[in-house]
Amino acid sequence: MSTQHILIVEDEIKIAQILRDYLENSGYQTTHLDSGIRVAETVRQQSLDLILLDVMLPGKDGMEICREVRKFSEVPIIMITARVEEIDRLLGLELGADDYICKPFSPREVVARVKTVLRRSGQKTEAESANGEIIQVGEISLDIQQHRAAIQEEEIKLTLNEFALLQVFLSQPNRVFSRNELLNRVQGYDFEGYERTIDSHVKNLRKKISKRLPHQEVIGAVYGVGYRLNDPPVEK
Ligand code: CA
Repeated sequence: MSTQHILIVEDEIKIAQILRDYLENSGYQTTHLDSGIRVAETVRQQSLDLILLDVMLPGKDGMEICREVRKFSEVPIIMITARVEEIDRLLGLELGADDYICKPFSPREVVARVKTVLRRSGQKTEAESANGEIIQVGEISLDIQQHRAAIQEEEIKLTLNEFALLQVFLSQPNRVFSRNELLNRVQGYDFEGYERTIDSHVKNLRKKISKRLPHQEVIGAVYGVGYRLNDPPVEK
């Protein structure tokens, strides 16, 4: 297996150095940028497997960068924030990041989170070598092998989390999934996630679906419980 390449965007040189040391000791290749200015350019030019993105950066902040990158790339992004309270705000912004880590962190925790996110991203590679499987419910189809989602046969771009969530929903239409269940299914039992992360990913997924199907509620919220995929969709 080729070495996986991680981009670290962090203006505090000491922290960046610690991250580089830990990640390289764990077998990853790293690139470091100390400002946000050249991130999008780097994502376009280099083959990256994951980005560790600090929120507070000189020049351009991590939130702006995340949005910018998401316009053209689904590369996994882990945001790093200085305050735990900020995670709520970041989730509310629906940036399309795959995970959040709070400073101060233990470098080991960061490596563990990186592994988890990469494993999920690698699952699509595994699926690629397995038999091609296409799940279709109503107008929506998922090609597991190609990691491709389509509505009315036209592709929609989804992040890893969104794709994984949609796969869970499509596997059992009309079944209600609790946030906790979704979290477990999508991110694995060893992931210390936040149930609110699920809300944020579901919100993004719904938004993308409703751009194509504005008059249908495909994914419904069940108050106090969780979410379900409506089959057939509910008219709005
Ligand atoms: Ca910073």
